[in-house]
Order: sequence, then C-alpha cells, then structure tokens
Amino acid sequence: MSETFQERLDAVNRRIEAACARSGRDPAGVKLIAVSKTHGPDSIREAAGCGLRIFGENKVQEAKAKIPLCSGSLSWHMVGHLQRNKVREAVQLFEMIHSIDSLKLLEAVDAACDEAGRNMPVLLEVNVSGESSKFGMPPESVPAALQSASRLMHVSVVGLMTMPPFAEDVEKARPHFRRLRDLRDQWRAATGVGLDELSMGMTHDFEVAIEEGATWVRVGTALFGERGETWRPAVSE
Ligand SMILES: *Cc1c(COP(=O)(O)O)cnc(C)c1O
Repeated sequence: MSETFQERLDAVNRRIEAACARSGRDPAGVKLIAVSKTHGPDSIREAAGCGLRIFGENKVQEAKAKIPLCSGSLSWHMVGHLQRNKVREAVQLFEMIHSIDSLKLLEAVDAACDEAGRNMPVLLEVNVSGESSKFGMPPESVPAALQSASRLMHVSVVGLMTMPPFAEDVEKARPHFRRLRDLRDQWRAATGVGLDELSMGMTHDFEVAIEEGATWVRVGTALFGERGETWRPAVSE
C-alpha cells in the first residue's frame, strides 16, 4: 500500500462515520481496536503516533514479546482464542479479553486475576452461526454462564463478541451480527446483566457490524495492510 498510516486511519474513520450516519448512531459509541497481530513495534509506534491507543492481539506469546517494546500508555486487548495454560500471562498483559469461549476459561481468568490482584472486563465469544470450526460458546450455554459469572469476583462480563464465517458478500454477515444483538437483548432482559458492549466487525464487514450495533470494531488489515510473516523479537546474543 502506498498510503500513509494516517491516510488509512482517516479512511477507516470515514467509513465508521458513514456507517453511523446510515444507522442513526453516534460515532462516539463505536470504539476502534487496531488489531496489530503479526505487526511489529515499529508499526505500532506509527499507529500510536496517529493517536491510536487500543491494540488487539490474538496470541499471548506474541503479545508478551511485543508489548514491552511498545512505549506510551497503550491498552492491549486479547481478541483471539485463549488457552487455559496462558491465562496467568494474559491477565498481566491485557486490559480486556474479548474471546472467553467457555465457563471454564472464565473461571480460570477469575482465579488468575485473584492471584494477580486485579479485575478484568471480559466479553463472551458466542458462536452465533453454529459453525463447528469457529471458537465461541453455543448460544444456549450463555445464560447459565452469565449466572455463574455473576458469582465470580474478579471478572465482569461487559458484553459479547462474535466472528461470523467469512463470506465475500458482507450482507451474509449481517444476520449473524443482528442475531448477536437480539440474543444480547434477550439475555439482558432475562439476567439483568447489562452486556453493553458488542465486539463485532473486522476489515471486511465492520460497517455492517456498526449498522447492527457494534460498540467495538476490531480492524487490522485496513489499518496496517495485508499481514505477511509474523513479527518476532530479535534474538539477543
Ligand atoms: C485478525 C483479527 C481481526 C482483524 O482482522 P482484519 O480482517 O485484518 O481486520 C479481528 N478480530 C480477530 C479476532 C482477529 O483474529
């Protein structure tokens, strides 16, 4: 890509504003996460220089190597599948976890936060489409998980996340986003848990997600360009 980071960011912000205008939403209600997976500290510095503060990573090991090399008061969100044996490290690195895909994982995060003396806002990842290859909790297991979560002292479930199956036609994603919002409304009414945040939409489909109620959009490629080889820390001798 020949444009600068600032130009790409401006283009993303214009698309966010247009989607908000189409759906009668206030752009202040849509927060942008710059998904920096595979990109190195130089790219993150450039993004931070353009005012971005919230970065998304999908692997604990990569984030653990990268975050100490990125200065400034940046905030890191875990957006990818979290393995239970990485939970202790994850609660040290991240300020929010979008991808809680089982009650067991949520309990492990709660226990790790207890040890670390902190609290963690999280989102439950819901497999709205029922596609078996995707992570996420089946919708029918969410109400019970919300009940159990209300007893955990160190995690608060602030919303829901979903990743629809990829389809060239973005309109195919719309029913999945809409379903997540409808489920949220049902579960909110049934449990009293606010679930204000809806993390949905990536480069390909974030405008549709905004039209359907997204409060967090997770955008990588439209900001950083196509992902190539994954960044690795230089090996020190
Ligand atoms: C990689 C990734 C994104 C960003 O994807 P792009 O298509 O590059 O915008 C968003 N969410 C999750 C969970 C991801 O793994």
